[in-house]
Amino acid sequence: MDDFQVDVLVVGAGNAAACAALAAREQGGSVAMLEAAPQEERGGNSSYTAGAMRVVFHGVDDLAQLYDLTEEEKRDVDFGSYSADQFLDDMGRVTNYRCDPELTDILIGRSFETMKWMRSKGVRFQPSYGRQAFKVNGKYKFWGGLAVEAWGGGPGLVDLEHKAAVKAGIPIHYETAAVSLIEEDGVVRGVIARHEGRKIRIGAKAVVLACGGFESNAEMRTRYLGPTWDLAKVRGTRFNTGAGINMALAIGAKAHGNWSGGHAVGWDMNAPEFGDLEVGDNFQKHSYPLGIMVNANGVRFVDEGADFRNYTYAKYGAIVLRQPNNFAWQVFDGKIVPMLRDEYRIKRVSKVSANTIEEFAHKLEGVDPVAFLDEIKKYNAAVKQSVKFNPNIKDGRCTVGLDVNKSNWANTIDQAPFEAYQVGCGVSFTFGGVRIDPDSGQVIDSDMNAIPGLYAAGELVGGIFYFNYPGGSGLMSGAVFGRIAGTGAASGRNA
Ligand SMILES: Cc1cc2nc3c(=O)[nH]c(=O)nc-3n(C[C@H](O)[C@H](O)[C@H](O)COP(=O)(O)OP(=O)(O)OC[C@H]3O[C@@H](n4cnc5c(N)ncnc54)[C@H](O)[C@@H]3O)c2cc1C
Repeated sequence: MDDFQVDVLVVGAGNAAACAALAAREQGGSVAMLEAAPQEERGGNSSYTAGAMRVVFHGVDDLAQLYDLTEEEKRDVDFGSYSADQFLDDMGRVTNYRCDPELTDILIGRSFETMKWMRSKGVRFQPSYGRQAFKVNGKYKFWGGLAVEAWGGGPGLVDLEHKAAVKAGIPIHYETAAVSLIEEDGVVRGVIARHEGRKIRIGAKAVVLACGGFESNAEMRTRYLGPTWDLAKVRGTRFNTGAGINMALAIGAKAHGNWSGGHAVGWDMNAPEFGDLEVGDNFQKHSYPLGIMVNANGVRFVDEGADFRNYTYAKYGAIVLRQPNNFAWQVFDGKIVPMLRDEYRIKRVSKVSANTIEEFAHKLEGVDPVAFLDEIKKYNAAVKQSVKFNPNIKDGRCTVGLDVNKSNWANTIDQAPFEAYQVGCGVSFTFGGVRIDPDSGQVIDSDMNAIPGLYAAGELVGGIFYFNYPGGSGLMSGAVFGRIAGTGAASGRNA
């Protein structure tokens, strides 16, 4: 590959990048995307997702604008609704009201129209029956504000976005990693990239950085998230090494957001160092709200039922990482085993089972069995049996009088077969990044001036998520701000 020139250069080829490229192309002019990964690993973390997307909708008629529904589905399925106020409440609550109000308003306010726009580009969506709905009296009922996922999950999303890009005449250059920005007199005029070991110069009138956070960089994780984060597994791509953030900071971009925070979940203890596209997100183990988790000391350490999994899973990875030897066992009994999510039934799973609780206690590798049996006894005695168990709502079936109580979905652990799954911490993405102008996606410098020619979207934008995250918001953020940055870059490009 030789040096070349383009109007808008998008760095990255995940969801944020694809939305930026498609939006830029709508404005006219030439657009190209750079992908550090080879084609078979394309699409960054977006490819590893289940494609769940958090969107404002007011009922089934809105959803029917995003995906095809049969008359039976419209009549028989309880999709509920998810208002802008609910989305705002969720963002505020889970981020301890730190989320940037302007970015959050835009994320929420443009969620629905952005998904309609994606559909118009050829992306397809479907109801997320598998993960976000339970059957009540034979009928599906959705919970937790998430009713939409990309057709074909993350791989389907990226595939259709890349097809749309190719159709729009946007080339995607694989195995081409941007390494630095070309800046002349304070104006960004392209990037230096590496392709097959050689450096090339790609000139551009505007550059959109959409190349992820620093989750796949153990050194940066430890530097910013703290000690032991080098020991976390990476759930997704190995290519999000913080290059885009570092390039922008090197020319004076303002660091913004929760640099010491990230999205991290309970992830199979024996999962590989980085994600595996064949397994996708199935190393995660997200039925813990229905069971309990114990650490090496044999004791519970967190309220597993504090909220629906959508609002706790992204912060519980960090809590698991802080336990002795950085692991936990998720424990379920025969009453709950049939309700476990599909990801518990994959082949590559760190699982033990037993028919008696004593045998079970000795099978939990690394756990003090005597302390575990004592913990189970105390836990069982504390379950408020008078409240009926109902996984569709926060049922208030709690424990009473324990040091760490469980607020909802508390069930005794007393019925064979007993099953346990060992998890460590799997980091999904980091929250810290650069500051952008919310309306144009332009990167802001440390003097609070916009940097001419530089735009950003997706994971590397700081200020949206702090401490925690409402499930399905990452793809939505990439889509909304990708579209904004692409439009901004194409209309505000330098001469
Ligand atoms: C296992 C898993 C499951 C998830 N599930 C969901 C979900 O269901 N719903 C949801 O909303 N969010 C989910 N998330 C979060 C979601 O993946 C991210 O928020 C979102 O995909 C980020 O999109 P992005 O385009 O910013 O980054 P990415 O999709 O990661 O794209 C970054 C791109 O930049 C490329 N790149 C990196 N460095 C360079 C460079 N120097 N030069 C050129 N290219 C470069 C990468 O190869 C990649 O193509 C999940 C994350 C993981 C890891």
